[in-house]
Amino acid sequence: MDQDHPAVIDMIPIVVFLLMILLMGGLKPFLDLMRYIRTRYPLLFLPEISPAYRQYLSRHFPFYNRLSNKGKRIFEGRVQKFINKKEFIRRDSIHEVTDEMKVLIAGSAIQLTFGYPDMYFDRFVTIFIYPDEYYSRLSGAYHKGEVNAAGVIVLSWKSLKEGFEDQADGIHLGLHEMAHALRVIKKLDDEEESYQFFDSKKMQAFDLEAYREIAKMTEGEEPSLFRDYGATSIEEFFSVSVEVFFEKPDAFFAYNPILYSALAGVMKMDLRTGQKITVMD
Ligand SMILES: [Zn+2]
Repeated sequence: MDQDHPAVIDMIPIVVFLLMILLMGGLKPFLDLMRYIRTRYPLLFLPEISPAYRQYLSRHFPFYNRLSNKGKRIFEGRVQKFINKKEFIRRDSIHEVTDEMKVLIAGSAIQLTFGYPDMYFDRFVTIFIYPDEYYSRLSGAYHKGEVNAAGVIVLSWKSLKEGFEDQADGIHLGLHEMAHALRVIKKLDDEEESYQFFDSKKMQAFDLEAYREIAKMTEGEEPSLFRDYGATSIEEFFSVSVEVFFEKPDAFFAYNPILYSALAGVMKMDLRTGQKITVMD
């Protein structure tokens, strides 16, 4: 007899116990427990960031710089995990997908979902990077970025970088497109009645006030804090208001505290000056 047998026999009660839990409760309670542990102790489950990436975070993300040391480590680990999960593909005259490109894209996604520790946009695996605005055969027009339900995110590198140059003008392509991706995920989740990422009630509270703002913008009687493009559809309004939420939180709150609070509820964050960035429940 070899000596491995006793250890294997020791494992039997544990395996039987786990099987019983699965049989009694199905997979969901088990997955919920795993999610809870990952959310409660995120650093245990996150990879170490590649040192080459970290410099781009401190250089381009005021949000990251505002975080506590622990918050920074979580942000870094989540950026690395996002990069590990995605396929970045260069287009046209982009010769190489650089570290900076990956970090600006991943950082936009993680900043947007910092209130959702387990969110990695899993329905989107492929990210195409074009040098500049690109022609879309689908719409017959030039675009700076788009997100489609087939799981592809497309971005213009020039426009993406411009979004990072002035971080108080309320224009940020990375956040804008990732916000579209979130709404696509929410819609598909609802259709499949699968895991609910956004709380539907919070999203409805936002949409309700958003439609009022869109109506005001369409009438055009008073100037809006939001750029006109936001009035195109509820999806565009959501993305445009996410940009303003991150880049002009104080002005946003002063302009429309109901809308700001509704979006803060969806994002689970409050970014106003003097507020410590904490994830709310
Ligand atoms: Zn858009």
